[in-house]
Amino acid sequence: MNGYHPRVPPPRDPAAEARKIPRADHLLAAAGRAGWTDRLGHAPIMEAVRATLDGLRAEVLGGSPCPPVAEVEARLLDRLASGARGSLRRVVNATGVVIHTNLGRAPLSRASILAMQEAGGYSNLEFDLPSGDRGDRYGHAAAALCRLTGAEAAVVVNNCASAVLLALSALCERLPARRAEASLPVVEAGAAGRPEVLVSRGQLVEIGGGFRVPDVLRRSGADLVEVGTTNRTYPADFLGALSPRSRIVLSVHRSNFRIEGFVHDATLAELCDLGRKAGVWVVDDVGSGALFPTAPFGLGDEPTVAERVSAGADVVCFSGDKLLGGPQCGVLAGRREAIDLCRRHPLLRALRVDKVTLAGLIATLAHHERGEALREIPVWRAIAWSPDELLARATAWNEALALPGAEVLPSLSAVGGGTLPGVTLPTFVLGLPPGDADAIAARLRAADPPVVARIEGGRVLLDPRTVLPGEDAAVLAAVRGAVSWPTD
Ligand SMILES: *Cc1c(COP(=O)(O)O)cnc(C)c1O
Repeated sequence: MNGYHPRVPPPRDPAAEARKIPRADHLLAAAGRAGWTDRLGHAPIMEAVRATLDGLRAEVLGGSPCPPVAEVEARLLDRLASGARGSLRRVVNATGVVIHTNLGRAPLSRASILAMQEAGGYSNLEFDLPSGDRGDRYGHAAAALCRLTGAEAAVVVNNCASAVLLALSALCERLPARRAEASLPVVEAGAAGRPEVLVSRGQLVEIGGGFRVPDVLRRSGADLVEVGTTNRTYPADFLGALSPRSRIVLSVHRSNFRIEGFVHDATLAELCDLGRKAGVWVVDDVGSGALFPTAPFGLGDEPTVAERVSAGADVVCFSGDKLLGGPQCGVLAGRREAIDLCRRHPLLRALRVDKVTLAGLIATLAHHERGEALREIPVWRAIAWSPDELLARATAWNEALALPGAEVLPSLSAVGGGTLPGVTLPTFVLGLPPGDADAIAARLRAADPPVVARIEGGRVLLDPRTVLPGEDAAVLAAVRGAVSWPTD
């Protein structure tokens, strides 16, 4: 018979199933026939055979049936092929988490991918075509960034963490020119000792991946001055914390957690006012880098970069691969005096952005400038799907699969993994037939391409929101393989 049957586990004897596991020499011969022994020699093949059999034994002892021999051979050949192509590969994101750090954050637009492909060859990265002289790597993206954010100047680095490190390192070394006219006497004296950076206690955060604001501060050679309390910080707290060594007031967006209840923050405008009067820099780490207001899309009031620039921050730092929807990079945008210091700092060389990233960023910025972000930028397309469209897609999957026990369910997609805490969007998911959810999810991840789902209430859910156009067939094929074994 052809066709698939849902896996209703019958009472099974693991020992009897284990006897069906093929022998190592059978698999070695299969690898030989496929040409792998000639290519790799005996030892790596033996290792792959052993790993394949170990995995299979664990499954069978856990109560799964032993798959047919052809399936076991296919697993071995897959393992050998993936070993040969390296471990980084495309996956289908059916988790519904739009900006998923573990899955590579923002998927890129067609135009960005093409631009990156083209930039892979030679380009005028640091070459001025009219004169034939050396050109400026950082100039290529700066004009668009300034138009989109209202900043006087901008520079692109490896990621937002680098942007913050560079801003703090460069600005700690100098005072702003406005220090000469500062009206607050407390900072008048020239001071010996390490420069100080003032941060609210409510913003001394760990962004993730070991990026902690206090540690970054220390690396930049500054002393951290904690201001206010965890839940309440006022402009007067900053005023009281100023000293002759003060260089920077740092504001950090709480990207990955919320404080609720008895809470007060000094606004960025208040900090900028203080920065002007005291003659210290104001640096704003805004994180996700929204270029337009997000409230209409149900994302709450993420600050936009333009808002932060116009509030008067000297430097606003943000990521390229969160709400901007481009490749991994970090942007510093703000006042020319501050950005020029960052551009001249030796650390820029260590944090510099590469040509392929720059090309992808420029193409993504062009979508924003042309007002076509919702249509062309996959992150925004995913955010902007209507519940009706998601319902139609989940229903189409359900009908194509016709799995007894599967159903379309209302659910919530998270926008960020580690960004936009608690921000969810209503969606419809395909709930797979109840069963061993961990095992089903593992088989989905073993598909080619791997499909990553989410498990909720002991059930595997597939969220169409983050499945890119054109990936539906891959989802269906992976599900067919994961919830049933072919019968013959
Ligand atoms: C995400 C985030 C960062 C780190 O950004 P990367 O581009 O991953 O380096 C820093 N600060 C804030 C506030 C963030 O949200």
